[in-house]
Amino acid sequence: MKLTTEQLRSALIKAAEQIEQHKDELTDLDREIGDGDHGINMSRGFQAVQKTLEEHGEYEDLGALSKEVGMTLIKTVGGASGPLYGTAFVKFAGAFKGKTEVEGAELADAFHEATEGIKSRGKSEFGQKTMVDIWTPFQEALSQEGDLKAAIDQALADTKARIATKGRASYFGEATEGVQDPGSLSSALLLGEIAEVLHG
Ligand code: ADP
Ligand code: MG
Ligand code: MG
Repeated sequence: MKLTTEQLRSALIKAAEQIEQHKDELTDLDREIGDGDHGINMSRGFQAVQKTLEEHGEYEDLGALSKEVGMTLIKTVGGASGPLYGTAFVKFAGAFKGKTEVEGAELADAFHEATEGIKSRGKSEFGQKTMVDIWTPFQEALSQEGDLKAAIDQALADTKARIATKGRASYFGEATEGVQDPGSLSSALLLGEIAEVLHG
């Protein structure tokens, strides 16, 4: 599995479209176990990313693209999720610096760093019903060259069944059991588009 600059750019534009299509669903989930703004936050952020990518056109390398996406997300998403998604792309920017394509262990390591960045920024761990529940199995599947889409689907089902112990949703306690975590769904939409370009 290989990721090129143009593939990542195209996956991000498709992810922005996915997020737009799921905007209300993301907000409704966040209304149930949060403060009802996740769709709005993500739509604002990814609309800005899409606009930036379309205006910029081709990027020099994966690092420059990731850096611009990270900065845009940090500036525009807001909430708890903005700095977390922003951190993931800032970590990609470091791992992808000067590279126009990455594959194998190098690609898996970049997703490992991004996931660790989210965990460190959020002081969170796998299994707390946050976006980390999607990023972790995705990154593991990538390092094993496994089926990324199957890993995302399984992770979504697993996190849905959990009780939130981190973030705003944790205040809702047992009421979160059986409700999808909005940040897990938005991460699944984003990583799903990356899986799409990687599986080819
Ligand atoms: P806010 O909770 O500030 O309104 P959003 O609604 O945009 O922010 O994002 C909420 C999502 O962010 C959650 O569904 C969860 O997946 C993720 N999240 C929240 N706190 C954390 C954390 N500490 N670590 C990892 N992910 C988190
Ligand atoms: Mg919210
Ligand atoms: Mg909020």
